[in-house]
Amino acid sequence: PTRFKPVSWREVEEGCAHIAEKILATNLNVDVIVGILRGGWIPARLLSDYLGVDTMGALEVKFYRGVGETAEKPVITQPLIVNVRDKVVLVVDDVSDTGKTLTVAVNFLMHYGPRKIVTATLYVKPWSMYRPDFYHSETDAWIIFPWDKAETVVELVAKRGLSIEEVSKITGESIDFIR
Ligand code: 5GP
Ligand code: MG
Ligand code: MG
Repeated sequence: PTRFKPVSWREVEEGCAHIAEKILATNLNVDVIVGILRGGWIPARLLSDYLGVDTMGALEVKFYRGVGETAEKPVITQPLIVNVRDKVVLVVDDVSDTGKTLTVAVNFLMHYGPRKIVTATLYVKPWSMYRPDFYHSETDAWIIFPWDKAETVVELVAKRGLSIEEVSKITGESIDFIR
């Protein structure tokens, strides 16, 4: 059975502050922050606040299964608009699981001539083939973020047949507001 790790808004803020501290302890001067949509956007915005970096961009990476293909691979579905040429770029996602998303995002960004690319995620799974340069902590549980709680609740109710009471125990707080 899947183990879950519900994460509160407070923990999201503390986790991002922890990442910001680590970045500030280096001599990196981040010019641009690129959030990976959708889960990376909120941590990216918090890091923009904590690091005082006001230039942001976004990349959307989605998993897609091509005709006759067995493995799902991530593809860029919304390209980059912000200029990263000769800039120090911080790429942010919520979690690196297989590591495929960050690998694809970093390889894509390389084509735009950045001076340097560094990566950050709130969480990293121990098996990830891509280790972010900065992260808050490691977990092997399925993380429930404040921004994907409703879809997790729907999935647990619809696909696993759990009751709302059982789901509340997993999310660790009231989910009354989710309809
Ligand atoms: P990866 O490409 O590293 O396998 O997966 C990264 C993406 O999968 C993340 O951007 C996130 O959207 C999703 N993901 C992976 N693991 C988790 C998890 O534990 N919880 C949630 N909510 N999303 C996850
Ligand atoms: Mg510095
Ligand atoms: Mg994602």
